[in-house]
Amino acid sequence: MLELETLTVRYGKHLAVDGVSLTVAPGEVVVVLGANGAGKSSMLKAVAGMVPTAQGAVRLHSLTLSGMPAHKLANAGIALVPEGRGLVDRMTVEENLRLGATPPRARGSEAETMAQVFDIFPRLAERRGQIVRTMSGGEQQMVAVGRAMMSKPDFLLLDEPSLGLAPIVVGDLFKALARVRDTGVGLLIVEQNVRISLRHADRGYLLEAGRITGAGTAGELMTDDAVQNAFLGGT
Ligand code: ATP
Repeated sequence: MLELETLTVRYGKHLAVDGVSLTVAPGEVVVVLGANGAGKSSMLKAVAGMVPTAQGAVRLHSLTLSGMPAHKLANAGIALVPEGRGLVDRMTVEENLRLGATPPRARGSEAETMAQVFDIFPRLAERRGQIVRTMSGGEQQMVAVGRAMMSKPDFLLLDEPSLGLAPIVVGDLFKALARVRDTGVGLLIVEQNVRISLRHADRGYLLEAGRITGAGTAGELMTDDAVQNAFLGGT
């Protein structure tokens, strides 16, 4: 289980994440819905050790992660697919994937994990020698997810994976993410794209101005008035 307990992130006086508590179980897809500036990226970065936690804690299988440097978190089983993907775009697909396999927990099983990535994303197998810069946005997002998988995470964090992608590409991406979930990995996804993310999630939370203001199963949130008003224009 991945647990965030009253997680708080501050930038100077600005409170970006204000006491967020949530859980993700192995093999579960949890989406955190929030508008621009709600604190979604800050929350994920704190879990991944990329910004400091001001208060509260992150626990993985009861081990307290907060305060650990990012490379130790990766070895504990946390992988982040950041907004903007963070790929080395002058390198090939395969080279980028290999960069994901640096945590000690991933060494020795590189070939097996890469085969699993290629099974879930056959397009990447076909294009393993292609320079990432020359690929479409959807393909680059697949590389970013594949690279995160290469660290053999227990929990995968995704920062707005649908951003900038055409709806059909987003649908394919979420179907592939469901296959990653089927391998037992827990997914924590932050999104503004309510419909598609709830369609593929088990549970969700609403994040507004750094606070959780709603929670429920994906089905409940889909028909929740607060979600309707905040994101779907009341339709
Ligand atoms: P977006 O979808 O626009 O990325 P978000 O929900 O991911 O939004 P964050 O990026 O976490 O939100 O930002 C939350 C708040 O913290 C915003 O008010 C933002 O301006 C502020 N913030 C984010 N990063 C920093 C930083 N490095 N320094 C100061 N303030 C920051």
